Amino acid sequence: MPATILQGKEVAKSIRAELAEEVAGLKQQGITPGLTVILVGDDPASHSYVRGKSKGCEEVGIQSEVILKETSTTQEELLEIIQQLNQNPNVNGILVQLPLPSHISEEAVLDAIDPSKDVDGFHPINVGNMVIGKETLLPCTPHGVIELIKRTGTEIAGKHAVVIGRSNIVGKPVSLLLQRENATVTMCHSRTKDLPSFTKMADILVVAAGKAHMIGKEHVKPGAVVIDVGVNRNEAGKLVGDVKFDEVQETASYLTPVPGGVGPMTITMLLKNTVEAAKQQAKRR
Ligand code: NDP
Repeated sequence: MPATILQGKEVAKSIRAELAEEVAGLKQQGITPGLTVILVGDDPASHSYVRGKSKGCEEVGIQSEVILKETSTTQEELLEIIQQLNQNPNVNGILVQLPLPSHISEEAVLDAIDPSKDVDGFHPINVGNMVIGKETLLPCTPHGVIELIKRTGTEIAGKHAVVIGRSNIVGKPVSLLLQRENATVTMCHSRTKDLPSFTKMADILVVAAGKAHMIGKEHVKPGAVVIDVGVNRNEAGKLVGDVKFDEVQETASYLTPVPGGVGPMTITMLLKNTVEAAKQQAKRR
């Protein structure tokens, strides 16, 4: 039987509807969640991502602001803006759109964000809290991956999950979160020898390598849940994932499409983090 297609768009829509209700309730208590996005430079893809984030905020009732800065902005100027946003009680979430121009240190900028407003979940304090299993703001794409798997009704505990990729923004946190859900996790990367021997053991396979169509049916155990995080452009300029969709659809039990799978979940988890940050900050006032 062909795989059920895991429509991230649909899952994201239902989570956004839940969030919209929650935000309406918060507003009645005088709490309006607020997100500020800082965008430096004129990268078209970044502008498009930021538009998607603003649209998402509008949809659920989060107040959002975009600060646009020229490519020539200095690191000091950017750090100054972040300090002001850290102090501003109306701003619950701060997001700096990556990549930044090469003269600015991404690490210095991300580290300057108040961890309680770090809705991307990239601050070392939030990463550390995630590693030791404390409640914290989780990174959006990995969190979205876990939510998608859960919504299939698949029990994660006790399953063998294989993650391809070990980046700080996807592979590592996905592996940690799967382990937190009591999966047995294997991490693969570019130096892994005989990749299919690992992936074929996976009950849950998360692919985040950024290599178009690298995973075919020979990599997938029949009945596996396959989550394709990869976003690549093929020669025709079309967006494709890391998984050969048509082939793997015949083997997997669930499979995410690209686009329309993990992508819509990422922004939705950002909205969720902003609401969570607003609630936590209100408790502390
Ligand atoms: P990185 O390039 O930072 O990391 C890729 C990882 O994949 C590395 O750990 C690398 O190994 C591993 N890898 C690369 N080639 C192979 C291979 N042939 N076999 C096994 N492992 C391999 O990418 P990101 O983690 O930032 O992103 C991964 C993909 O996810 C990209 O396509 C990106 O566009 C997409 N993405 C999608 C998002 C969404 O919202 N849908 C959000 C974020 C990312 P090594 O460490 O050894 O180099």
